[in-house]
Amino acid sequence: MRACRWTSPSCALPESSVAIVGAGVAGAAVAIRLAERGVAVDLYEAVPEPRPIGAGLLLQPTGQRVLAAMGLLDEALSLGTRVDRLFGDTPDGRTVLDMSYRRFHPDAYGLGLQRGALMGLLWRRVRELGIRWHCGVAVEGFEQDERGVTLRGAGGVATRHAALILANGSFSRLREGMKVRQSARPFPWGAVWTVLPAPPGFPQIDLRQRFRSASQMLGLMPVGRAHADDDQRGINLFWSLPVAELEGWRERIGLAPLKARMTALFPDVAPLLAGLDDAGQLREARYADVWMQRWHDGRVLAIGDCAHGMSPQLGQGANMALIDAHELAAELGDGDWPQVFERYTRRRRAHLRFYGQASKGLTPMFQSHAVVAPWLRDRFFGWGGKLPYIHQQSIATLAGYKTGWLWGRLKL
Ligand SMILES: Cc1cc2nc3c(=O)[nH]c(=O)nc-3n(C[C@H](O)[C@H](O)[C@H](O)COP(=O)(O)OP(=O)(O)OC[C@H]3O[C@@H](n4cnc5c(N)ncnc54)[C@H](O)[C@@H]3O)c2cc1C
Repeated sequence: MRACRWTSPSCALPESSVAIVGAGVAGAAVAIRLAERGVAVDLYEAVPEPRPIGAGLLLQPTGQRVLAAMGLLDEALSLGTRVDRLFGDTPDGRTVLDMSYRRFHPDAYGLGLQRGALMGLLWRRVRELGIRWHCGVAVEGFEQDERGVTLRGAGGVATRHAALILANGSFSRLREGMKVRQSARPFPWGAVWTVLPAPPGFPQIDLRQRFRSASQMLGLMPVGRAHADDDQRGINLFWSLPVAELEGWRERIGLAPLKARMTALFPDVAPLLAGLDDAGQLREARYADVWMQRWHDGRVLAIGDCAHGMSPQLGQGANMALIDAHELAAELGDGDWPQVFERYTRRRRAHLRFYGQASKGLTPMFQSHAVVAPWLRDRFFGWGGKLPYIHQQSIATLAGYKTGWLWGRLKL
């Protein structure tokens, strides 16, 4: 990939282009959807050489529809692994989760995918569409006026654009430049995760979780291959940790005691852990709950985690980022960017509000020091899931389709 470094004003771009900050799932997807509709786009990414890495993702039927609209679903299916069922229990054998996508629709399933595999597909399409991609460019600020937006980078270099889309993740500082009521609360829990090769004879699994209260959680998910030439299928391992323990865990806990905690919670994981012999294999993840009263401010729009970051408990972040991109493209047409962005906010409101609330409500039941909430979870979730209505609603939530607690379905 050719990097255009933002070192001189000669890099100035036509005023009519839309600047997108961040080339993660949200930024790459929106660049693609806008370029497909003939919009000139400039994509800015702080990392000089972006590499396709990241945790395994469960891509929901809604996100799969967006990939299909981009013509990327078949390749994603060939790289990933189909997940039909989610099962989670406690060490004493209580079922906490047992959800099957088929109960939502006979053809529905989740797609276990390495984030790197998804990014590989999106970035390739970015290049195929000839999108101007500026790597190693950290955008430091912006100002908007009636006619456009000026971006500021290192060394006081400025470029001018018709509009700006912020897609630079939950911990974006640029978001604070939007005149919109907002909050971003770092979540007190995070995780370590890695993708390990499935050892010979390891059972074929769907998404599998084991919980002890809300303070211990291990998740396994098949995530397929990293790229087309890779013949090794991987399993994503997720281990929840409070942020206080995540900080310096290699010295304070160490790999061997951490593996011992994992096998004590879920002995079946032992053969998989044979492939985990270096603490460097485990990556750390932190997240934040991001709330915004609206997602637009004149010529500036926030999408993806920057607009609505949440914990990964519901498996929705990348899914929502893809839907944001798709729905913004659907609002192109009449009017200038402020009108398009305002219509986007109206279009996304019910869906994003529902998932923000659901994530906030559910996460403490799975990652916290709470006692009562997980006790109730262990007693009632498994039982409630046997009731057809509850099961239907739970799986519709997981599939990414709900726009309200009682009714409402995303039309995609
Ligand atoms: C452990 C874990 C498990 C997850 N599981 C799932 C799952 O099962 N299903 C699912 O759908 N989602 C899942 N998610 C969530 C998902 O990964 C995120 O929601 C998604 O990747 C967010 O994409 P994004 O593009 O909004 O932000 P990011 O991926 O954070 O991308 C932001 C980009 O902006 C760049 N950037 C930042 N600042 C600047 C700047 N100033 N200038 C230029 N560039 C900048 C960054 O370098 C980065 O490339 C999971 C997340 C974690 C941590």
